Amino acid sequence: MLQKAIKLLNDYFGYSSFRNGQEDIIENILNFNDTLAIMPTGGGKSICYQVPALLMDGITIVISPLISLMKDQVDALTSIGIPSTYINSSLTTNELNERISEVKEGAYKILYIAPERLDSNSFRSLLLSINVSMVAVDEAHCISQWGHDFRPSYRSIKNMINEFTAKPKIIALTATATKEVTADICHLLDISETNTFVTGFARENLTFNVIKGENKRDYITKYIKANRGQAGIIYAATRKEVDELYEFLKKNGTKTGKYHAGLTEHERAVQQEQFLFDQVDVMVATNAFGMGINKSNVRYVIHHNLPKNIEAYYQEAGRAGRDGEKSECTILFAGQDIQLQKFLIEQSTLSNEKKKHEYQKLQQMADLCHTEKCIQTYIIEYFGEDAPNTDCGKCMNCMDTRSKIDVTNEALMVFSCVKRMDERFGKTLVAQVLKGSKNKRITQFGFGKLSTYGLMKQKTEKQIVDFIDFLIAEGYLSLTNAQYPVLELSNKAKQVIVEKQQVFKKEQMAIQAIETNDELFDKLKQVRRNLASQLAVPPYIIFSDSSLKDMSSKCPTTSEEFLQVKGVAKTKLERYGEDFIAAICEYLKVGKKDHDIQTATVRKQPAESNNTSSHLTSYQLYQKGSSIKMISEIRGLSEITVQNHIIRAASEGNPIDWSQIISEDEEALIVEKVYELGTEMLKSLKDALPEEINYFQIKAVICKLTLESVNQ
Ligand SMILES: [Zn+2]
Repeated sequence: MLQKAIKLLNDYFGYSSFRNGQEDIIENILNFNDTLAIMPTGGGKSICYQVPALLMDGITIVISPLISLMKDQVDALTSIGIPSTYINSSLTTNELNERISEVKEGAYKILYIAPERLDSNSFRSLLLSINVSMVAVDEAHCISQWGHDFRPSYRSIKNMINEFTAKPKIIALTATATKEVTADICHLLDISETNTFVTGFARENLTFNVIKGENKRDYITKYIKANRGQAGIIYAATRKEVDELYEFLKKNGTKTGKYHAGLTEHERAVQQEQFLFDQVDVMVATNAFGMGINKSNVRYVIHHNLPKNIEAYYQEAGRAGRDGEKSECTILFAGQDIQLQKFLIEQSTLSNEKKKHEYQKLQQMADLCHTEKCIQTYIIEYFGEDAPNTDCGKCMNCMDTRSKIDVTNEALMVFSCVKRMDERFGKTLVAQVLKGSKNKRITQFGFGKLSTYGLMKQKTEKQIVDFIDFLIAEGYLSLTNAQYPVLELSNKAKQVIVEKQQVFKKEQMAIQAIETNDELFDKLKQVRRNLASQLAVPPYIIFSDSSLKDMSSKCPTTSEEFLQVKGVAKTKLERYGEDFIAAICEYLKVGKKDHDIQTATVRKQPAESNNTSSHLTSYQLYQKGSSIKMISEIRGLSEITVQNHIIRAASEGNPIDWSQIISEDEEALIVEKVYELGTEMLKSLKDALPEEINYFQIKAVICKLTLESVNQ
């Protein structure tokens, strides 16, 4: 059975072996045990149910709270030839009915649904009428009220499963679960502890950093500059902060998107799509962004503000490097952020018991920022797992070799000024006094007469504020809880004043690029982007960054070589091989030869595909009169794939009767919108057109227009 699973993994996904942990989990399911899998994000969770689903007779139902993720997963599965679909509130009644009847006909191996769907009686009787072999509960922590995303509908899952006469297998999956939450999942889904697999919370490709007491905007500006062209997410705590940071970065010339709950649904969809399609590099967002974003090539995640707890942090940070490539997670820590999170807890409608729990978690999050031990180890211990024997060796605490500068004198100047202002003012005014500023409030309060007035006049006001932030982060100064927080001296400061302890500040963190330049990699990314916009799927659905990396180091110039690339199997070779191989050949002929490849291979032309290409097979069936639906059934492909095949064949000059796809009226409507909105964003086009016009028709019109313009 396991051998069969490995063969399927190779045939469909292009990997020759399972990753750490996957094999045990899959074997356990194939032995008919209900299973709980706790795997880090990016550890390949979905393979754990997708491969067994192919080995079972009936259909696998995947319950996921994330509507946008469903479409993504289905696109990805469809792109490798696994028949799958989703049913959720984003569908029209027609689409819904169509999919339900297809499910009844057994057209799919995998069906994604939202948990709320289980509350519908008619849907439950549909499930009972078909052969459900497995139920995969994704984001299983949503079942526990101690988890960070409790979803009451998850509680219906067990009841639903009990209604079946032949009980389907259960696999529950999550990336973040404390011991408490794990026990809850097992209890509520009736999974025994022996069937629980924890494959480790460590994310070996991620580097964790905490930056304290530095100016956040300066840091972000430098960081983005050092990592230009890489995709990154910046999380900020409030909508206002997102808006401001977004404007700031745009002014700096960074290709930036933004996302928060204050935007309309349409705006959010557009922003998200631009990020998924690599049209913007940086996404500035509140924590509303990311649930369900499966973009695998996010190279960095920066937390502009302190997250509310370590679970939320690790989940958000974990959106970096899902493709297994080296990526970075950075928290920009400032003392005020703790006040903000406390305020948010205080304002919430949680019970007192739950609030206490949240305060405690916030404290643990703040402790993470102050710890001097390995940050990855700290996180693993937080989740209750035995820490590994060795530290990660790359987080900022493991790597910190910066020299310390004695800043005791400057610190004493600040302490003395705070004291002389009776610990009644905020950091801006303290900084202005130290700078010797002549503004009205200073004259008004008579601060010009203080002995500390102008004591740091050689520094800029911003430098002084940054230094005060550093003293807050290190616990020398504290900010009160009030609406206008006031600076106070802590005991640690008093020790400096009275006991003559020294204050050290480390040199600024040097910012380095996460990746070095690779010209071929950039070219392959361009090929991927072009294909993605032709097929209207996000680029990473075509190939992950790690596949492109591998491609750029292996430089395959034949089909056989191309199959050796990580993540390439037959379907992907057929669909995309030609384009990438052509780009590699072109690069090798004209480019620098710093890639380690033998000249003999360089001269070789890409191998001709010996069988008819997949898209032409679909096209021929279509020309013989088969409907899209029939072809998709015959070939075990999704209808969208078949539609794309036909468009591709047409775009290559094969004759086609367009009137079968679009009426003249519809065509006129689409053409008008294409001229108005362009063809870059299919989704915007779709949204701007009447609901009954589908993507196939839009793509057909674009194809027709392109052909006409070429033939003119
Ligand atoms: Zn470390």
